[in-house]
Amino acid sequence: MKAIRQYTFGEPDVLQIDEVPDPQAGIGQVVVRLHAIGINPVETYIRAGIYPKPPTPFCPGNDGAGIIESIGENVTEVAVGARVYIAGSVSGTYAEKALCDVSNVHHLPERTYFAQGAAINVPYATAYQALFNRGRAEAGEIVLVHGASGGVGIAAVQLARAAGLQVIGTAGTDRGLDLVLSQGANYALDHTKEGYLDKLSKLTAGKGVDLILEMLANVNLGNDLNFLARGGRVVLIGNRGENNQGIVEINPRAVMGRDADILGMTLYNASASQLRSLHAAIVAGLENGTLQPVIGQEFSLDAAADAHRAVIDNRAYGKIVLIP
Ligand code: NAP
Repeated sequence: MKAIRQYTFGEPDVLQIDEVPDPQAGIGQVVVRLHAIGINPVETYIRAGIYPKPPTPFCPGNDGAGIIESIGENVTEVAVGARVYIAGSVSGTYAEKALCDVSNVHHLPERTYFAQGAAINVPYATAYQALFNRGRAEAGEIVLVHGASGGVGIAAVQLARAAGLQVIGTAGTDRGLDLVLSQGANYALDHTKEGYLDKLSKLTAGKGVDLILEMLANVNLGNDLNFLARGGRVVLIGNRGENNQGIVEINPRAVMGRDADILGMTLYNASASQLRSLHAAIVAGLENGTLQPVIGQEFSLDAAADAHRAVIDNRAYGKIVLIP
């Protein structure tokens, strides 16, 4: 089969296509024939070598969607031919097939097409974990999704609206703002405009927002704190910057005066029971139509390097996926 492999770390061109043996399902494992593969920013950081480096050569990727091609011994949860989305794998997902533990695959409803299936795992699991398990979101609250036009942001808008929150989302282009509104946000703000958060006071009747999901903490955290309601929470999801440092200055008084919380999160820290529960909620949302992943751009498998450039360089519009 064809697979993208990385032999070294650096610019996107280190992603090269190889011919490798087909994976074989062992005990408790399945092989998924991939119809679409999700690209996440984290894979660009690993590729560049600014995150912990896996042993080389390796096939990148956590997300994908396809059909179960074979199953190993002791697999009773899924059958050959089942439609699934993948949440992590043994072999990597930038390939025509992926080897997964059976716990990594989840039912993909008929109404969700494969490219959408590839856009589920990291974005929706992160958005769910940030909103509910870290951010303690409740119906009736107001959430600011600070960076709502990308993979995690769109997922957060859909999940929050389905759970009865009011949503204010930000984007950096007119197209992104329209997308955020079309996904159910009550209001959209342009984060490239000077003073754009000042509107929050009017939009929240002077109270401030209860929760902020922050996609670019190194730029926004200091100012976010000025717009929180009493008892408000900021969940830090994304942070970029020179050498992956992303240092930011805050005024502790803005936190103290509001009894506010600043909460970090990394999806890899989610417990097994949190993952079971959030994937059950995601599958239910896909089945009832409240969750509908948005695909911004599709690339062929051998154009993985271009897909990585697009994730980092382009303004976001939903998810970028590879089609093998
Ligand atoms: P993405 O699809 O590339 O989207 C990036 C988002 O950030 C877009 O909505 C973009 O808006 C927005 N953005 C750009 N400039 C901004 C600004 N000044 N203020 C606020 N938002 C801004 O990426 P993603 O997959 O949604 O991931 C978002 C971030 O979360 C990334 O840094 C990623 O590494 C991180 N992440 C973390 C975890 C975790 O476990 N902690 C999990 C998944 C992702 P425009 O392009 O419209 O300007």
